[in-house]
Amino acid sequence: MHAWIVDRPGPIATDPLRRVERADPLPGPGQVRVQVTCCGVCRTDLHLAEGDLPARRHGVTPGHEVVGRVDALGPGASRFAPGQRIGVPWLGGTDGTCRYCRRGAENLCVAPTFTGWDVDGGYADACLVDEAYAFALPEEVGDEQAAPLLCAGIIGYRALLAADVPPGGRLGIYGFGGSAHLTAQVALHEGLRVHVLTRGAANQELARRLGVDSVGGPTDAPPEQLDGAILFAPAGELVPLALRALDRGGTLAVAGIWLSDVPALAYERELFYERRLRSVTANTRADAEQFLQLAARFGVRATTTPYPMADADRALRDLAAGAFSGAAVLHN
Ligand SMILES: [Zn+2]
Ligand SMILES: [Zn+2]
Repeated sequence: MHAWIVDRPGPIATDPLRRVERADPLPGPGQVRVQVTCCGVCRTDLHLAEGDLPARRHGVTPGHEVVGRVDALGPGASRFAPGQRIGVPWLGGTDGTCRYCRRGAENLCVAPTFTGWDVDGGYADACLVDEAYAFALPEEVGDEQAAPLLCAGIIGYRALLAADVPPGGRLGIYGFGGSAHLTAQVALHEGLRVHVLTRGAANQELARRLGVDSVGGPTDAPPEQLDGAILFAPAGELVPLALRALDRGGTLAVAGIWLSDVPALAYERELFYERRLRSVTANTRADAEQFLQLAARFGVRATTTPYPMADADRALRDLAAGAFSGAAVLHN
């Protein structure tokens, strides 16, 4: 089969990914093999390719928004039938025994396995997954539509929960790409007022089309104070601005796995009145199950740009350049 690997991490213009030929992987105990139909392109893949995220294994195959069909079962695997369509997400495994796992916070596990970082992901013809960490996908969602839900959607949903906006409250969204445009739809369906602050005419236009309450530039002040905000842009310099936009008691949740340095904060202007700044780290399987159900029920639609799997490097270059709005999806 063909697989992309992170060969020499570095700026995307230096072609850090390489496409190689390798044997089909064989599923081990509890694993299934998935013939990849589609794989979404996540900003994390770009951080990995460029070396912002240090490689956990040389030559790993990226991709953790994988949609495909089960074609081989490892010993003891019984959750899915051959031919069944499943999704493979970022969280690929946990130890199940550490104190975080035991208290239901498996997203904080001390020994997690991530798809496309520790183990090979979906920028390939096939990949393996521990069946306990894969998801059945709602039938009403097509393959290309389902892919971005599997990381962008799930993480955005966890960030929305983290931003802790009361019913009918005011949510700010900083940055408007693959994750944000899914999260905004859930927030609007839940009856929140949504203010989007982002660069890029295409991103702003996408936000308007989705019917958000206001759209501004990344450094603009929203038209009203916010009960909660989510920072999707990997730009630490926006943290003080977003904190200043919060009402008393509001929470700013940082959704990304990587953020440039946060400048010094002014306590009085940016943190006092019980404003909170928190990060969002991966997700639990429960978050994912909840989000996938909501996405199907609300008819959450990803704006997608398809690329052939053979052009994964071009898709990442386009992501770096902000050349499309919404989410890129690779197709086999
Ligand atoms: Zn654990
Ligand atoms: Zn991701």
